[in-house]
Amino acid sequence: MTHMLYPTTNLTATEQLVITHGEGVYVYDNQGRQYLEGMSGLWCTALGYGNEEVVETAARQMRTLSYSHLFGGKTHPAAMELADKLSAMVPMADARVFLGNSGSDANDTQVKLLRYYFNAIGKPEKYKIISRERAYHGVTVAAASLTGLAPNHTHFSLPFDALGVLRTGAPHFYRDGLPGETEEQFANRRADELEALILAEGPETIAAFIAEPISGAGGVIVPPAGYFEKVQALLRKYDILMWDDEVICGFGRTGADFGATSLGIQPQLMSLAKALSSAYMPVSAALITGDMYDVMVEPSAQVGIFGHGYTYGGHPVACAVASKVLEIYQREQLFERARVMGLYMQQKLQAFADHPLVGEVRGMGMIAALELVANKQTRQAFNGNAVGAYCQLRCQEHGLIVRAMGGNSVALCPPLVISEAQVDELVEKLGRALDETLAHVIREELL
Ligand code: PMP
Repeated sequence: MTHMLYPTTNLTATEQLVITHGEGVYVYDNQGRQYLEGMSGLWCTALGYGNEEVVETAARQMRTLSYSHLFGGKTHPAAMELADKLSAMVPMADARVFLGNSGSDANDTQVKLLRYYFNAIGKPEKYKIISRERAYHGVTVAAASLTGLAPNHTHFSLPFDALGVLRTGAPHFYRDGLPGETEEQFANRRADELEALILAEGPETIAAFIAEPISGAGGVIVPPAGYFEKVQALLRKYDILMWDDEVICGFGRTGADFGATSLGIQPQLMSLAKALSSAYMPVSAALITGDMYDVMVEPSAQVGIFGHGYTYGGHPVACAVASKVLEIYQREQLFERARVMGLYMQQKLQAFADHPLVGEVRGMGMIAALELVANKQTRQAFNGNAVGAYCQLRCQEHGLIVRAMGGNSVALCPPLVISEAQVDELVEKLGRALDETLAHVIREELL
């Protein structure tokens, strides 16, 4: 028993699993048991564990300059190098980069950048943000308000009213598609709902639309074909900015450099974290287009100092590590590898589509989920989250880490360096856990 308060769990929680070290795609607990890290921690350890080149880089940077900040234009080589690398990488023209420490703070920074931008051009009333149900954008007060999951709101009196969050439906065809509706009709319906919301609120009051290319924590929701095309046509029509939250999808996860590439998104704002450093150090980035920046610094801009910044934003060790990780991604061609291995993994997982408990297998590249249902024909969900949690525990017993999410979806997001044999191992362990979960569900008469 320690004095920890554990995040994202019941406050009475005690030590569940004590992870002591990691190597490659495996982590080990204090009993010496090995686990295949099928979730890359929290969707972040893309390079796997114990990469010596990264470790060396961190040690070297700590010796050279362990800390420096970026306030007032003071800077250091590691931050400048990372910002330039990111600007050159993203599908945004002449992007400007604000460095932070987490996905949540990157999204809070974006909220400030949006407000600052619209104040700069004399449109302070254009501040509302459209977010979607089932979205996850973090847990700081602004980011949590953008998040569309009840547990992140209940008991915290969120969303925060002054933020002006507007909510629209998720592109979750399996859950929200109507009987007889095609994917295309569903995408059209979601677009129509979005347009109705924009018109009801007034486009002149709406700054941006935020979306994950594939929603992660909401259940690995892969949007139907054409969804982002339709959404972006509306955003252009009503002069609303596209804010792409790439915290999970960025850096190879979807089988391309960014989720934006895989899903056809042309962002004006982009949030990055997690695989940016493969979680070797906490680091994030909020990016805006050069056009937005230019407007903010025009002599006519109706604003002064950008009074925002974190003590640890652009931390030299985090920046050096992130630059090294990006170099390794490129040198080892890991995004292409993720595409190829992703096809293999998705194809292997599709075998579970016939399993009596599995309503849908969905995913893209190296991210996937199995949605467990009480009735495959009617798609009837189980009450509560216990069935997914049971499956997660069975996986753990077999030495595989997965993550059960609300609605009894089991998520997979292994390190991009996983081998074919290790994908086979993952699938075999998951299969055993699914069979045991089925036996449990029958025994407990949960069907
Ligand atoms: N955005 C997305 C899409 C995320 O998945 C997450 C974290 N799971 C965040 C933002 C928040 O990142 P962090 O936990 O680093 O604050």
